[in-house]
Amino acid sequence: MRTDNAAYIERDLAHVWHPCTQMKDHEQVPLIPIRRGQGVWLEDFDGKRYLDANSSWWVNLFGHANARINAAVSAQLEQLEQVILAGCTHEPVIRLSEALTGVAPAGLTRCFYADNGSSAVEVAVKMSFHYWRNVGRSAKRRFITLSNSYHGETLGALAVGNVALYKSIYQPLLMDVITVPSPDCYEREPGQTWAQHSRAQFEHMQAALDRHSEQTAAVIVEPLVQCAGGMRMYDPVYLQLLRAACDRHQVHLIADEIAVGFGRTGTLFACEQAGIRPDLLCLSKGLTAGYLPLSAVLTTEALYAAFYDEYTKLTAFLHSHSFTGNPLACAAALACLDIFRTDAVLERNRMLSAHLGARARALAAHPHVAEVRQHGMIVAAELVRNKASREPYPWQERRGLAIYRHALSRGVLLRPVGDVVYFMPPYVITPEEIDLMVEVAREGIELATCD
Ligand SMILES: *Cc1c(COP(=O)(O)O)cnc(C)c1O
Repeated sequence: MRTDNAAYIERDLAHVWHPCTQMKDHEQVPLIPIRRGQGVWLEDFDGKRYLDANSSWWVNLFGHANARINAAVSAQLEQLEQVILAGCTHEPVIRLSEALTGVAPAGLTRCFYADNGSSAVEVAVKMSFHYWRNVGRSAKRRFITLSNSYHGETLGALAVGNVALYKSIYQPLLMDVITVPSPDCYEREPGQTWAQHSRAQFEHMQAALDRHSEQTAAVIVEPLVQCAGGMRMYDPVYLQLLRAACDRHQVHLIADEIAVGFGRTGTLFACEQAGIRPDLLCLSKGLTAGYLPLSAVLTTEALYAAFYDEYTKLTAFLHSHSFTGNPLACAAALACLDIFRTDAVLERNRMLSAHLGARARALAAHPHVAEVRQHGMIVAAELVRNKASREPYPWQERRGLAIYRHALSRGVLLRPVGDVVYFMPPYVITPEEIDLMVEVAREGIELATCD
């Protein structure tokens, strides 16, 4: 049997329906069958290597085939692969809960598990709603969300998100939410700082809370970076104002750190930069360093207590997923946290992100790059047709796709979000590999905008 790329592509396209993909695109754009990964590199079946510049969809932290995580998962595999987490428990989930509550913002003492990011958002939304019922305030059942936000693809998560491309088709199936303009600093006036713009945008949130707090269970945000919304960024001051306003109005704050958690923005959790503690913290993606599907929702003693009663009061949170708290995934997560603890990851990332930022900022000189922005290990360059007016390219032209294809030919897996080229590499990348990644992006931008 043939084992080259072409053979795998043919077999794949006969049966596999890929996520987030117009399958017809694969008549033009080749699928890349990956044989193995090592560190930041992926290798296909023809032996070509690709630098994993988007961390395998923002999940990988410490490279592929990381020796420490491999060893931890293997060791767990010899002990216990899976067990029901209702009525039973196991050492990895106990240790992980101790570890997470130890590193999360103080006061988040309770961990509920699911197996992907969207499910964590569903859990947080249901928990908040249910909390208010349990304390006798059942009118509080609505959610406030930011424009351009993204919280996942299941119906509840899609409802509290706001990226039209993913949401609008399914609108008839979704609960109604209150949407407030984002603090996104791409939209700031010339001369305005990020902090000034984010603070000014908070007026919209303030108005929504003043008007709707009696009916509102929670506000949900992606702290500091709206990733799927095109790596749009804002200042931590917004989170400080939001925390204070949620307290005043008795509304929960849900922080979706599924993408930005685990060091992406420079601190272990993005909320730390604002010095705040959300009522519900959603984690996934980097939680297992990108090894296995797992998510967690961390919450407070106060929230937990509102569910704790005699069974017959029917206040329990009767939510579950089959693979809730899977031991192998918990073992990977423990190994991940152990690397953070022993390897001065955040310090090294400061060096890497300074290097990445310096290199990427040079892209801003390009006549079709409107802005280069950064929060820690996330750097994005926004392509536009007209730099002065910031008029975007028509989306149908798919300029980002041209960059993707160029980068592939040069051995870099960049996957722009629309016309936003971004870098979100594993933390084990070297400065030389950063240089390659940015140079290939520069060439791609050149090619994609040359007409
Ligand atoms: C990826 C993501 C999700 C959804 O996680 P899945 O595991 O893909 O369901 C939710 N919120 C944010 C901020 C994300 O980036």
